[in-house]
Amino acid sequence: HGLARDVLAGMRDIPDFPINGVVFKDFTPLLLDPSLRDRIVADTVHRRQGRVDVVAGIEARGFILGAMIAHALGVGFVPVRKEGKLPSAVHSRSYALEYGTATLEIHQDAVSNGERVLIVDDVLATGGTLAATCELIERCGASVAAIELVLEIGSLQGRDRLERYDVSSILTV
Ligand code: 5GP
Repeated sequence: HGLARDVLAGMRDIPDFPINGVVFKDFTPLLLDPSLRDRIVADTVHRRQGRVDVVAGIEARGFILGAMIAHALGVGFVPVRKEGKLPSAVHSRSYALEYGTATLEIHQDAVSNGERVLIVDDVLATGGTLAATCELIERCGASVAAIELVLEIGSLQGRDRLERYDVSSILTV
């Protein structure tokens, strides 16, 4: 539909980033367009209003989108960060990336028992990042209400690793 078409037009392909052979989907041009940005946020808000208690954003692009969505929903925001960045006690999870490995962390007291968490990120590729984030939230005792993305790379089959969850993206390529 219209939003998906405009998001597709607003993203650009960067060949050989961050390593040779990877075509990186750059979503930063979308952030320059205030009305498109607002429509992306409104799309998620329409689906999730009243159904979530807190938004978790994944460093770093998930912070940008997640903070806007949390603001629009009127709920709190929790950062899921790369290793060594969060100052208090954390849960930690290492996983394999499309390129290399990574570790994500969440403050142990960031979300509490029974809270419904909406996870936000820009792109779903292999699904490793989101699977790790779901596990961190569940280790805190909270539940993953849904996952919201701007773009899903269908050929990498990230959805297969997230079968238990309610996953929405604006656009699949
Ligand atoms: P995955 O763990 O699903 O393989 O990779 C998803 C994570 O890496 C997300 O945090 C996402 O921001 C980042 N990522 C992987 N590939 C791309 C890409 O082509 N474009 C963008 N913007 N992010 C990507």
